[in-house]
Amino acid sequence: MGKQKESHELKVRRTMKDKSETKSETKFISTISHKLRTPLNAIIGFSELLLDQVYGELNEKQTHYLKNINSSGKNLLVFLNDLIDLLNLKWGEVRLEYSDFSLSQAINQAQMSVKAFAEQKNVSLEVKDDSNLLTIKADENKFMKILHHLLSNAVKFTPPGGKVEITTRYLKGPEFNPSSLFPTPCVEISVVDNGIGIKPEDQERIFSEFYQVDSTLSQDFEGTGLGLSLAKELVRLHQGKIWVESEEGKGSKFTFVIPLDE
Ligand code: ADP
Repeated sequence: MGKQKESHELKVRRTMKDKSETKSETKFISTISHKLRTPLNAIIGFSELLLDQVYGELNEKQTHYLKNINSSGKNLLVFLNDLIDLLNLKWGEVRLEYSDFSLSQAINQAQMSVKAFAEQKNVSLEVKDDSNLLTIKADENKFMKILHHLLSNAVKFTPPGGKVEITTRYLKGPEFNPSSLFPTPCVEISVVDNGIGIKPEDQERIFSEFYQVDSTLSQDFEGTGLGLSLAKELVRLHQGKIWVESEEGKGSKFTFVIPLDE
């Protein structure tokens, strides 16, 4: 009995410690986020103001260097946003906010977020929605982030003239999908490209933080190395699973499955 009480007290103390640690980590993350974002927004904003020539005409060199400052600032902001998201997922307090939302609208919106990039690269975007699901239940914001990371990678690693396709399926349960690990009804989303592909030995590693394939094929592409680890954490939060099938030189298929029950 004494031992039981002792272990209970230990558990309570540990939970209190865990909670206070999470609180101080959350505060630390929000402080560095604020301290870095404020000057970065000034760099981006003021360089834009100068580029608009509001305060006088610029010569060619000045325009060139200001464009460099502006795009470096923007790249750094993307990196910072991804890093803060990942730190929050790993150490902070992140809760899912479930709601019912339209699957086709979410896919359209995610497509829009990479449309300009795809047009600029002459990569076509297509959707094959076979799920027949009008709505799904998930954290809409986080669901969109997963899709955005997969789509922007697919466009990035597909050469001009290539194709990126989003496909969906409704998995009703294990009896309809015997190999599935998911007992409940699920939605399966795949992002398929016919781009540079990934070697078998890299296919697990790319989901780790900062891992980027070091090859002649991928060296021309910029990135933070955080997109897939973020997508993996967000899928994990939804109790789902994410994986890749790929062949070097032929293309990749990234798939994630999330249960439709909260
Ligand atoms: P990055 O910002 O570099 O894209 P990610 O974490 O999103 O970081 O991806 C990690 C690495 O996985 C990429 O640098 C790339 O080498 C590889 N990768 C991701 N998606 C694809 C894809 N669709 N085709 C080929 N390689 C990919």
